[in-house]
Amino acid sequence: MTASTTAPFTADDHRARMERAARTAAGAGLAGLLVAPGPDLVWLTGYAPTATTERLTLLVLVPGQDPVLVVPTLEAPDAAKAVGAPALTLRDWTDGKDPYAATADLLRGAGGPDVSFGISDNAWSLHLLALQKALPTAAYASLTEALPMLRAVKDATELDLLAAAGAAADAAFEEIRSVAFGGRRESEVAADLAALLRRFGHSQVDFTIVASGPNGANPHHEAGDRVIERGDMVVLDFGGLKDGYGSDTSRTVHVGEPTDEERRVHDLVREAQEAGFAAVRPGVACQEVDRAARAVITGAGYGEYFIHRTGHGIGVTTHEPPYMIEGEEQPLVPGMCFSVEPGVYLPGRFGVRIEDIVTVTESGGRRLNDTTRELVTVD
Ligand code: ZN
Ligand code: ZN
Ligand code: ZN
Repeated sequence: MTASTTAPFTADDHRARMERAARTAAGAGLAGLLVAPGPDLVWLTGYAPTATTERLTLLVLVPGQDPVLVVPTLEAPDAAKAVGAPALTLRDWTDGKDPYAATADLLRGAGGPDVSFGISDNAWSLHLLALQKALPTAAYASLTEALPMLRAVKDATELDLLAAAGAAADAAFEEIRSVAFGGRRESEVAADLAALLRRFGHSQVDFTIVASGPNGANPHHEAGDRVIERGDMVVLDFGGLKDGYGSDTSRTVHVGEPTDEERRVHDLVREAQEAGFAAVRPGVACQEVDRAARAVITGAGYGEYFIHRTGHGIGVTTHEPPYMIEGEEQPLVPGMCFSVEPGVYLPGRFGVRIEDIVTVTESGGRRLNDTTRELVTVD
């Protein structure tokens, strides 16, 4: 998580993000935002504490007030080094003092008695319960539910970083194609993939799915002890963070020559992925991307085997809003960045998934992954 503090952003960038977040919160009817250590805090302030502990660290954003970071005294020197620190006030507290009373004092200025604050989804209940006790008249809401698009539209620098992370993941795929698959355990190929991601600049590897043969029919299969055999389809899905921004790509390869059916299913998923990508343009609802990809698979009679949404956003995390799913009416906006990753999963047999990160431009989608989407054969 600390890698994001090295991203090329300035205190002014963070100041602008915090102002925008406070404004957006007010627009959503919230009196302010309470941001715990995690992706939102990193994005807003550049601060990622090395450990998240029982000691309260909380960014308090109230429209019209300067941002305040409540932080344990012993961690204040680290917080002061964050890129966004010049744009906020540090309010440190020492062991034995009550940080919740101090935080409640900050919040009391935020409006009448019946106000509501958005709080990070990953805030510890320990902290939320203590805040509720310190300020019992306030209500608390999920920050992500209230402001799902807070981090969704990326600026030019963020898009460059996402493109670089995607290029690094592509480089890892180009190398993994030449390693031996047959006769090795999934976990060994996964270790190779993780090493490649790191070699190409990732500081954090979030997942290296290697799902061979029947394991490929489980989209969430990680890598296990199964020995990969000749004739297996193998779903590879890997990503993590490079310079604070995420990669996430899937390709399905085959060990030796595929059967006609394997080729046909792979072609179908490739066509669906292309249709999902082609649906991307400003103003189109997220659910239209899902519908476009799903229509291809359903039309070929495989609809019941496409068992997940078509995509998810990506940024300082590898999974975040917006989601490409039926029912999501959020229109696409230039700068949004998300996966397009349809799949077909045949229980007990094999699976196929093809995934690219795509960003929305004025004229349509732009892929941030561009390794071949043809079925690749490996040894
Ligand atoms: Zn096969
Ligand atoms: Zn993935
Ligand atoms: Zn994904």
